[in-house]
Amino acid sequence: MALPSPWRADFPGILALEAEGQTYLDSAATAQKPQAMLDSLLDYYASGSANVHRAQHLPGERATRAFEASREQVARWLNAHSAGQIIFTASATSAFNLLAYGLEHLFKAGDELVISALEHHANLLPWQQLAIRQNLKLVVLPLDAHGCIDLARASQLIGPRTRLLAVSQLSNVIGRWQPLAKLLALAKTHGALTVVDGAQGVVHGRHDMQQLDCDFYLFSSHKLYGPDGVGVLYGKSAALAQLKHWQFGGEMVQTADYLNATFNPAPLGFEAGTPPISGVLALGATLSYLDQLDHQAVAAFEQALHQQLMAGLGARDGISVLGTPNIALASFVIDGVHHNDLAQLLTEQGIAVRAGQHCAMPLMQQLGFRGAIRVSLGLYNNGQDLERFFSALDNALDILQ
Ligand code: PMP
Repeated sequence: MALPSPWRADFPGILALEAEGQTYLDSAATAQKPQAMLDSLLDYYASGSANVHRAQHLPGERATRAFEASREQVARWLNAHSAGQIIFTASATSAFNLLAYGLEHLFKAGDELVISALEHHANLLPWQQLAIRQNLKLVVLPLDAHGCIDLARASQLIGPRTRLLAVSQLSNVIGRWQPLAKLLALAKTHGALTVVDGAQGVVHGRHDMQQLDCDFYLFSSHKLYGPDGVGVLYGKSAALAQLKHWQFGGEMVQTADYLNATFNPAPLGFEAGTPPISGVLALGATLSYLDQLDHQAVAAFEQALHQQLMAGLGARDGISVLGTPNIALASFVIDGVHHNDLAQLLTEQGIAVRAGQHCAMPLMQQLGFRGAIRVSLGLYNNGQDLERFFSALDNALDILQ
């Protein structure tokens, strides 16, 4: 078999879908899960669940220890200084909303928030709405022909009025790494806060927070082969200390009477109510699984999938790939073919790809497309999945063109 994945058998979901005749090529939307993650979920509930940070009883103490051990694991995964820099949220989206609310007291009318033209709605709308509420200016960095944030334009647009830069590490539409080091350095020369959307980037390789040196980095567990319902917000200690509390209730409070209350600092002060305990434990189990893989072998394999994907798209007439991807993710349009018609014919052949605007409507408008097909692969995909996709694509194009 061309390009087999050594890790495919670890993911029951991909095998189940295959048995059903489905070829799953939508991992950028959400990934399939390793058996280790499923075992963790079952184990937590089957061995007696309990709430965290509250009870002194044995099950409660055990759950709390496991929960905090997962936080330590996430901190190690990101090479954060300490576990106290990791806040668990419900998703990347909720982490963005936390930031847009928690930082708003730092901005005044006329201040500039800078994002880029390729941002997912999750890293656009919370800032846009904040800008509307407080009369701030939202500045959008343009892209170059490869789908990279244009550094020359960025150096003109990021300036003394910039109070915050929030950019994606890796675009969910274009599949290209962004020039983060230079962008962050630019923002820092003007004293702006820096936020990195790691939702797609975190899935590929390891990212060192001390080296990246941004103020905040966030992602969703479910794209990193973990459970849904869990997001991670990393922050530098000084940046976390500036956050205003945003959701109120149990666990985040230090003292309360009927008229007033005091609140915990991060992380617990930003985890109001019962957190997603089983999910956090399962994210820990997922990271343990990922940790023991040969990282070089994973990177080489993902590059091989990328090459095969790009070669196949490049070999067909009339296909335009959006930007220049450098991971195993590509969005494309085809001359004279509506993406929904193509998606329908692919779906009928058991090919699961994403069609539409990919939660980045302004980007699609700017590129001049109403929508595109996106193919995105995980470490459980293999060369045969791509062969099936290309054969289904050829069948569809025979009908449509
Ligand atoms: N940013 C990017 C780049 C994404 O791809 C996504 C998910 N598609 C998000 C943010 C939001 O993640 P979630 O829906 O898990 O909150």
